[in-house]
Amino acid sequence: MNQAFENFLKLCHQEIFEKQKILTDTYKINEYRTYSFSQQEKKLVLKSETSEMAFDVICIGSWKKDDSSFVWAWANENISEEMREESKTLQGLAETTGFNVFKEGGFECEEAVAKDLAFMAIHQLEAKGIYRIEIDDSYVFLALMKVSESNIDRTEAGTSKKESSLDWSLDELYDSFEGNAYQDDLKKLDTLIKELVQVADEITKDHENEKEKLERYINLSETMSLTFEKLGVYAELIVSVNSKDELANKYADIIDQKQSELAEPETKISKWISEIKDLETIIDSSARLQEFKFFFKEIVKNSKYLLSEKEEVIIAKMKNTGSTAWVNYKNLLISTHKVELEQEGVKEELPLTVVLNMAYDKDREVRKKAYEAEIESYKKIEEGIVAALNGIKGEVLTVSKLRGYKSPLDMTLKDSRMQKKTLDAMLEAMKESMPIFRKYLRRKAEMLGYSNGLPFYEMYAPVIEKEMKYTYEEGKAFVEKQFRSFDNELGDYARKAMDNNWIDVLPKEGKVGGAFCCAVHSIGESRVLLNYGDNFGDTITMAHELGHGYHGECLKNESILNTNYPMPLAETASTFCETIVKKAAIKEGTKEEAFAILETEISDATQVIVDIYSRYLFETAVFEQREESPITVEQAKNFMIEAQKEAYGDGLDPEYLHPYMWTWKSHYYYADANFYNFPYAFGLLFAKGLYAQYLKDTETFPGKYKQLLAVTGKMDIEDVTKTIGIDVSNPEFWRDSLKIIEEDIEEFMKLSYEI
Ligand SMILES: [Zn+2]
Repeated sequence: MNQAFENFLKLCHQEIFEKQKILTDTYKINEYRTYSFSQQEKKLVLKSETSEMAFDVICIGSWKKDDSSFVWAWANENISEEMREESKTLQGLAETTGFNVFKEGGFECEEAVAKDLAFMAIHQLEAKGIYRIEIDDSYVFLALMKVSESNIDRTEAGTSKKESSLDWSLDELYDSFEGNAYQDDLKKLDTLIKELVQVADEITKDHENEKEKLERYINLSETMSLTFEKLGVYAELIVSVNSKDELANKYADIIDQKQSELAEPETKISKWISEIKDLETIIDSSARLQEFKFFFKEIVKNSKYLLSEKEEVIIAKMKNTGSTAWVNYKNLLISTHKVELEQEGVKEELPLTVVLNMAYDKDREVRKKAYEAEIESYKKIEEGIVAALNGIKGEVLTVSKLRGYKSPLDMTLKDSRMQKKTLDAMLEAMKESMPIFRKYLRRKAEMLGYSNGLPFYEMYAPVIEKEMKYTYEEGKAFVEKQFRSFDNELGDYARKAMDNNWIDVLPKEGKVGGAFCCAVHSIGESRVLLNYGDNFGDTITMAHELGHGYHGECLKNESILNTNYPMPLAETASTFCETIVKKAAIKEGTKEEAFAILETEISDATQVIVDIYSRYLFETAVFEQREESPITVEQAKNFMIEAQKEAYGDGLDPEYLHPYMWTWKSHYYYADANFYNFPYAFGLLFAKGLYAQYLKDTETFPGKYKQLLAVTGKMDIEDVTKTIGIDVSNPEFWRDSLKIIEEDIEEFMKLSYEI
């Protein structure tokens, strides 16, 4: 066999894998247990208990088991004239491959060879995929051309008759680590990685046949991502509900290791792609490649900032002893940090987290003491932490300059697929809105008995004792109902997740805290982890996570390579769903309940708008100073106080600010994600802005919203928002979003005098 043929065969195999994946994931063909095939109609009808799906088919050929013989459909007399005619196209493969076998009617061959022939036929016919049926003693290979009819009953098909459980089910991924399915995929992954290394060498040799090479790379990348995701997610999800599961931890590590093997070949291929002269023309000439226009654009954009392979290796290695070492050191200082606190006459050394949590305590004395003790405690570690800050920010400045970025902020914006103009527009509107938040802070201060603005330590103090209880059953019903008030499809999604055991509900030993949602693209589902505790806040968290899940649902039909959305858009769908549910709860609740929800809502928004603004100012000052010289503890404290004064103004009591907010907040210490602050504000305000649009047009908005979520992984932010008619580079849009929060604050003010 010659090399060209071998490559062709490989391509066909890859295509089949990809096509069958879509058939099982999107069309769910595995769920149909029976079929009927009609030669007259040239149709294959797949059947399950509740639904049917019909494909137009072309017959490829059949392989007879007892004498290992293969016969092409066009040469088979048992097949109708019309079907034989259609399969004649396959003789064209003789020319493509230079092999006569495509013109010989029948011959002896192994089953594997028959399969290879059928796979090549699928390529030739540009079919959707393959289906094998058995007639008498033969396997008949059919090319699935298109879906001609389907009557999938969505609710029925989505609801398997499974017992409802409070633990999530992962059976849809794998039965176990040791089972064949997992082990086979693991083996497949190794083959794919080897192939990627080989492909990287082969395709980057020269710039001939660029289109075919790009197609090959895309196919491989897609398959690789799906396989990685499925294997990795299975391990990670198990670890998240049982951190001590040894097998799951082991496999999570193995998958991580394998992931790191991709860096080198990927870099090589990226460079090669960025050197293609008329990339756009090539992409336009291939239907397959067109789908990945943005994906390629990103590769080209990012490779502009790649250094030589040698330099990249040096930077990666030096990072281990540079920023990574500093982060570890800083984490060590913070995680072992003890705060000396006197409680009821007894001095105690308490972990920092315990003391930070006291900010929510009902007793004002506890809150104040905790704050004072916390501030006092940092003297022991401030020098070490500022050294870490200097080390990390210094490295970031050096590396971003070497790569050719204008500044660390420029680097973050490029990673966020966002323009500076957009950030400036948002910051401008945020800055204008500060007085509104200050009004809320002063009112809260007043309610707590302060006359000179709110002391920093009272930021999270409860102002009303009103705990709303929602059992999981009540929470589910409430969320579904409110989702439906927005759009039935959103409601259907929530129901599907609730009914099919996609949610792990209760806290249990070994389970991680908090909540998250994990979209599992490879099976077109998602899994949600909660630690549900019967509070209204838990219901909101459920709505938040299901919002993420719906985002994944809207991306389901996209290629996995088009599903990575940037950080500023990551919280859009979740915040949007939260808003729906909170607004409804405020409307339906008593005055006290409405007030309690509003207070939490506004307090959270104050963090995301006002505090984030102060963090942005602080980080800007830090980078400016670090360019000149290392920062001293005094400088860091001053930058923080100045930033807080600028953002909070007279909302906070100037006597009680927090000069050490840079110590334990981890965001300032991510070498790979600087200015990890404004994306939060973007997320909240963009979701609020969408909600404002929804109120203006409740009829058509839900459809547009779905469309918007579906393109978040394949466009720049400005283009994503344009699809729904929003110009994020215009401060007006942000002002509208902030107006929604302002309305909440006005309502809060009003209620605060009534309750
Ligand atoms: Zn979230």
